[in-house]
Amino acid sequence: MGVASRREILKAFGCAAAAAAAAPVVRGARAFAAISPPGPGGETRVLGSTGIRVATVGVGAMITRESDVIRYAVENGANYVDTADCYMGGENERIVGRALAGIRDKVVLASKVHIAPVDEMIRSVENSLRSLKTDVIDIMQLHGISSEEEVTNEDAREALRKLLEQGKIRVPGVTTHKGQETVLRAVRKHGFYRTVLVAYNFRSDEGIGAAIRSAFGSGKGLSATIREVGASGVGIIAMKTQAGGYSSPGDHLSPHQAALAWVLENPGVATTIPSMVSFAQVDENMKASGKRLGWGGRKALARYARAIGDRHCGLCGECAGSCPQGVDVPSVLRSLTYLEGYRQADLARQSYRELGPDRFARSCLSCGSCAVACRLGLDVKRLARRAHGLLA
Ligand code: SF4
Ligand code: SF4
Repeated sequence: MGVASRREILKAFGCAAAAAAAAPVVRGARAFAAISPPGPGGETRVLGSTGIRVATVGVGAMITRESDVIRYAVENGANYVDTADCYMGGENERIVGRALAGIRDKVVLASKVHIAPVDEMIRSVENSLRSLKTDVIDIMQLHGISSEEEVTNEDAREALRKLLEQGKIRVPGVTTHKGQETVLRAVRKHGFYRTVLVAYNFRSDEGIGAAIRSAFGSGKGLSATIREVGASGVGIIAMKTQAGGYSSPGDHLSPHQAALAWVLENPGVATTIPSMVSFAQVDENMKASGKRLGWGGRKALARYARAIGDRHCGLCGECAGSCPQGVDVPSVLRSLTYLEGYRQADLARQSYRELGPDRFARSCLSCGSCAVACRLGLDVKRLARRAHGLLA
């Protein structure tokens, strides 16, 4: 990676005004060039117009409790680490901060902030900087957005612009679990945000029509949108790549590696952030770097899909807003996946309770016939009732 100053990077992003204003700022002015390439053997791609070269397998630290596991992943070729201010009530950023002590410059560090009034957002990012023990966060992303209005939200842009000028963040981005295609297109259309962290896995395009259209680069599925928006220069990072992380059926091929390879077949994806909670999981995920799916991998995925087919929500968001009682079905089912797939009870309860009584699934307990049609044929009422029983 060539040497580039922060000013040059801001200019390259079209932030000329910010670049001019930032000229005298030295605090946190490490160049992207300081980010080391991943270890030997790892596949790398460029993160859209940021120009940052990232290993295709990064670290989703959301449920990682041991900082040594994150260090081990970095030693083994990962150079992208994703966390958020609210994971584990703030503890996750402190774990990542401990993990990166002495190796901060080897990693592209990503965190998140919720849309809020400008001062509140700035305070939140400053808090993240303290927790992460760093003077700059490389990618600062808006949490879980789902609409074009959020992409153009002026408070969020003003807060992130100020943080860019102050050298506290390097690249503004967004994250999305719902309305993902809308968000991807809005980011391409309106500029400013340079990256999108998107929930994407082999169940995202399920249904034979969508799968065929995606394979040939056409159609309207998430795969096609990712390919298109990625090609336009937006840096795309994939999360939820393992379709829930459920225990896999016995097989000589790892379905988790195959799931990663499936995501990385899409050239629009620059990197992935599978969860890693153990050294064994790091080994398994890192070995997927550079692997092609092949026939064996496709068969392993098909078996995995059958095993989780009656319970895993693909997070396509297509059913959002279709419950007449206001139940936020994709979010309810995502919480259930945290519990039954990732086996993270605290995270599942926290994310479920955050939905509040207007959006969680109490109404499902007394609902006669479910009006929500799932693209994957899930029995939404049964799953939503189970989520409420286990998580309320
Ligand atoms: S069971 Fe009824 S309340 Fe629950 S999601 Fe379906 S329509 Fe909505
Ligand atoms: S429940 Fe079905 S339609 Fe709704 S988001 Fe999940 S996979 Fe998509």
